[in-house]
Amino acid sequence: MKLLDKVTELKGVGPKKSEALEKLNIHTIEDLILFFPRDYENRKNKVNISELDIDKPAVIKGKVDLLVSDRYKYGRKQLLRLLVSDDTGSIEVVFFNAKYLMSSFKKGNEYIFYGKPQLNFGKLQMVHPEFSRVDDAAEGILPIYPLTKGITQKEMRQWQKTAGELYETAEDYLTGDILDRNRLCSLSYALKNIHFPTEKQKLLEAKYRLVFDELLTLQTGLFAARQNIKNEENGIAFPKTSDTTPYIESLPYPLTRAQARCVEEIEADLESGKVMNRLVQGDVGSGKTAVAEIAMYKAVKSGYQAALMAPTEILARQHYEGVGKSFEKHGIKVGFLSGSMKAAEKRETLEGLKSGELQVIVGTHAIIQPDVEFKDLGLVITDEQHRFGVGQRVRLKEKGRNPNILVMTATPIPRTLAVILYGDLDVSVIDELPPGRQKIQTRTIGQEMRDKCYDFVEKQLDAGRQAYVVTPLIEDSDVMDVRSADNVAQELSSRFKNHKTALLHGAMKQSEKDDIMADFYEGKIDILVATVVIEVGINVPNASVIVVENAERFGLAQLHQLRGRVGRGTHKSYCFLIMDGSSEVAKKRGEIMDSSSDGFYIAEEDLKLRGPGEIFGTRQHGLPDLNIADLARHLDVLEHAKREARAILEQDPALKAPENQGIRRRVTKLFGETMSLDL
Ligand code: ADP
Ligand code: MG
Repeated sequence: MKLLDKVTELKGVGPKKSEALEKLNIHTIEDLILFFPRDYENRKNKVNISELDIDKPAVIKGKVDLLVSDRYKYGRKQLLRLLVSDDTGSIEVVFFNAKYLMSSFKKGNEYIFYGKPQLNFGKLQMVHPEFSRVDDAAEGILPIYPLTKGITQKEMRQWQKTAGELYETAEDYLTGDILDRNRLCSLSYALKNIHFPTEKQKLLEAKYRLVFDELLTLQTGLFAARQNIKNEENGIAFPKTSDTTPYIESLPYPLTRAQARCVEEIEADLESGKVMNRLVQGDVGSGKTAVAEIAMYKAVKSGYQAALMAPTEILARQHYEGVGKSFEKHGIKVGFLSGSMKAAEKRETLEGLKSGELQVIVGTHAIIQPDVEFKDLGLVITDEQHRFGVGQRVRLKEKGRNPNILVMTATPIPRTLAVILYGDLDVSVIDELPPGRQKIQTRTIGQEMRDKCYDFVEKQLDAGRQAYVVTPLIEDSDVMDVRSADNVAQELSSRFKNHKTALLHGAMKQSEKDDIMADFYEGKIDILVATVVIEVGINVPNASVIVVENAERFGLAQLHQLRGRVGRGTHKSYCFLIMDGSSEVAKKRGEIMDSSSDGFYIAEEDLKLRGPGEIFGTRQHGLPDLNIADLARHLDVLEHAKREARAILEQDPALKAPENQGIRRRVTKLFGETMSLDL
């Protein structure tokens, strides 16, 4: 067995198991070894049953006194109940749908259980705990892996144990210098102790090393990408004489002070002759589009082409309509490009871009595909940039002669993180909403108020308004007790017979989605039941109410974005967050949403409440998914990693040296197809 062998080399891994492993992105033995536990079960710290705390995961050791394989059905599922006791008390252990477990337990034998104690009608219970026989239960700290259907914890541990014999053969790709300077343990030590730590201290050392590795890989990749951008010659200077006043004066409203300041900063960049690399942060509804249009106008008046790229087709089309209309008056030709276009249509657009007849292009990722050529691209704007990968940014730049880049986002990105992501990026903030905006009245409610809430929605519909209803899932799930879009759409269409309900979700065909959005926009649909596909940028001013089902499943920043779909016209608007869960955190989340309409504040509070994982979800920012490192939590490690990454690239910018092949391989693997490093 070797590191790069397929997992099927492992005993017990056949076609079925390897298919399940693939879902976890585990293909080779190396992938398996780099698949780290999400938690640990410390068997050294067994708790007496009488001393268990409700909701606090714990390990108990007890004898099975009673074993009931209930013949009656629980739904369609079969129930297994055990009465387990130690010297201090007893607890019920329950497994649903667990016929296959019947033979795992024998009355009178002792087992170890690890799970979360709960009270069920006054009865102490553990539902679906981890378990093992006392005889074969290793003492010490056991890893708990994130799993998928078809793989048990026991199997995963067994495979990891077997694969463990290869730890020594995993070549430490960091030099002794780097290890010393950063006080890192060896790779084999780290691997051994991340999977099977014998004590907490060793686990921490292992974690530190692996977090460092991942951040070093990330930084090296980001620096390498940026170095590609920077190596190009100077930027284009747009002349001062290409005045934007005519465009600004043609807008139906005066710019807010914040917009005007932002435009000034952008114009200064554009005229400077240095490549613009600017991020515009502005809350939902702050009017980023107008700022983008002004910048594009300037590019066109200076004789260059401009591109505006959006993360979804729906959003791109909306931009296309809006921008097209505004530019028409000024005689500027705007084209549209998306992946789902007909070939003939597409060809025409491509020709227009090449010849320069089209001065502005609005679209999706299709804009940066290899077949797209520009006559003279001078400005690239990405809306909601956090959805775009780092590598895409690089590719986009390659389309023009070092075009200026403007990135717009409603996601508040803390300064520290922005610097990591964008390096020397300049930031403009639109910290003011256009005047006359009404605050969206927000209420967090429990399931018991759901019915009343929809009564209210009906009144809005009767008054001629439209409504959004958002759910976390498309279809019903076996695993989660959550309302699905499918289900809610059915319920609402039979409840509101006089109004038209439609369903919109991410798995639908693009053309279907577009039709539905168009109908909603034109008022042919009254209630749009959707998954989060509507999250960014959709603008339907007549929509005055949004209901979010199972709002506990969304991050606050996301809820804030969703809420921004209403209150875009003159109508008083409402947002209902239906939340399950009575925990303190849930309550606090509700309070924050009810009381604040400041996206930056909300994101910060969310961070405090839930830790960085969700807001900083790397995917949101176009970074590759990190396995063990957490950008917000490991900023100190990041500093060290950054220094080493810089040093490595200074010595060997193309990562060609033999000693850098290890890091090179890791960078390529981490960034995958999102980035052509061209190293
Ligand atoms: P976002 O920053 O979320 O992209 P938009 O650019 O979509 O915001 O603008 C939201 C709404 O505000 C649009 O209907 C737009 O026409 C309007 N708007 C933008 N700037 C102003 C302004 N200065 N005064 C009044 N309305 C404005
Ligand atoms: Mg927008």
